[in-house]
Amino acid sequence: MNKLNNGEFSFSHETINKDFELLTRALDASISGIVITDHNLPDNPIIYCNAAFEQISGYDRKEIIGRNCRFLQQNDRNQPERQIVREAIINGLDCVVEIRNYRKDGTLFWNELYMSAIKDAFGNTTHFIGVQNDISRRKKAELALLQHQELMERRIEERTRIIKESEEYLASIVSTVRESLIVLDKSHSVLSVNDHFLKTFKVSLNETEGKVLYELGNGQWNIERLRQMLENVLPTNNPVEDFEVEHDFPHIGRKLMLVNAHRIELEGDYKDRILIAIEDITDRREIERRKDDFLSIASHELKTPLTTVKGYVQMMNRYMPENASDKFKSIVDKTSIYVERLNNLLSELLDVSRIQTGNIELHKELFDFDRVVKETVEGIQTATKTHQITVIGKATNSYSGDESHIVQVISNLLANAIKYAPDSPEIVVYLSLVSNYLKVSVTDYGMGISQEDQKKIFDRFFRVGEIQQRFPGMGIGLYVCDQIIKNHGGSLWVESEKGKGSTFSFTLPLDETEVPE
Ligand code: ADP
Repeated sequence: MNKLNNGEFSFSHETINKDFELLTRALDASISGIVITDHNLPDNPIIYCNAAFEQISGYDRKEIIGRNCRFLQQNDRNQPERQIVREAIINGLDCVVEIRNYRKDGTLFWNELYMSAIKDAFGNTTHFIGVQNDISRRKKAELALLQHQELMERRIEERTRIIKESEEYLASIVSTVRESLIVLDKSHSVLSVNDHFLKTFKVSLNETEGKVLYELGNGQWNIERLRQMLENVLPTNNPVEDFEVEHDFPHIGRKLMLVNAHRIELEGDYKDRILIAIEDITDRREIERRKDDFLSIASHELKTPLTTVKGYVQMMNRYMPENASDKFKSIVDKTSIYVERLNNLLSELLDVSRIQTGNIELHKELFDFDRVVKETVEGIQTATKTHQITVIGKATNSYSGDESHIVQVISNLLANAIKYAPDSPEIVVYLSLVSNYLKVSVTDYGMGISQEDQKKIFDRFFRVGEIQQRFPGMGIGLYVCDQIIKNHGGSLWVESEKGKGSTFSFTLPLDETEVPE
């Protein structure tokens, strides 16, 4: 290229060739595939392609020149991008599309195609230049991302469905339970209550939610002890268990409510919420009271005629004719044994009702504890041929307590040891002094008691299920024993393993004068 005198440039043949070669080299150096098509020739054929286009498409230059660009889509003809390209060609416009193309070996590559129309001085389209980049990798990543997104969306949908289901599930439980439920926040304000609460206390949601528990109604929950316990629930996670509240509630009158409260934890969350369950036990308590009254009246009413029968049997023994037959004597003997048994049963029942009404009286007197235990054991030993009872150790020879009640406890424990160890003849009574307590243990090697049942055997009328038929009893002996020991300031407990035997122990506190030197 030379500069002329008039300032214009003149192009020599040689210069044009050189420039053309330079341009071709530059195009070949590009990493983008470049093609030029001639719009004035039929079917807009490719008249130029650079090296990168050969590389991207896998075709050789001689297989490319002369063809229409559509050969790159092979049979994948239904792509909407093809229509965009077609319209751009018809209208002589530029366009950009991402289109699926296929290499010579048939493998797919995503082509990002920039198409630009070249116009002559009259604005007529003469050529198109197509610049192409293989964006398969990006497309693959985009596709993977899309699939991942879809997967995540599906998972979120699934989770949401599960959460919704469990919410509905929980809501249906909460609305079905026959207990009033309250959820409190950490300042003991009511976050929510269930329908049962609203119905039981005949209050509205407005009167309850957002209010501090102790201000509800006429301050029925404002009980110092309950407040202290609730304050402990969150920091210590100690629940409130079976706390009884008797109160004149607004709208519903005097009721007895049983309150249980727990810290709510949901996979480690919500540690600042308390769930309170309130049960109305007014009717249940009333029924229990009536049952107790019935028991007490019935045993009293039965005891009076029985005492008379007992007197008559004694008289029969006293006035027994000398020539009475052995058969007759044995009938009278048996009658007196069964009358005595009935009398003992009624005494036990009366004990229960006395304990219930708080009428159990202690007649404390000083007695030789060790001697009384030995005599009691001897008495029982003479009546049993099946078991051997051994007394080991010493406690004290002067204890101030209700002798007949203590005898009742020891007899009861021994009777149980014999009854519930039918195939193990050995029974041991240990006496000892532990600090300022006397301790008595009765050990048998019989059927034992499961951990679960051990918690309940001191409840009145409780009997272990499986023994109901085999062994007679009413399930009140241990209850009475426990109360007697408690009334003496002591404690009674059991250690047992099912199938191996049981040890029932009690301790009784001694005052200074009772502790032997
Ligand atoms: P009862 O013997 O009349 O059933 P108790 O109150 O004396 O009533 O005992 C309650 C229950 O405890 C018994 O029914 C029995 O199941 C269990 N039990 C008591 N003592 C023993 C023992 N030594 N070995 C195994 N079970 C026992």
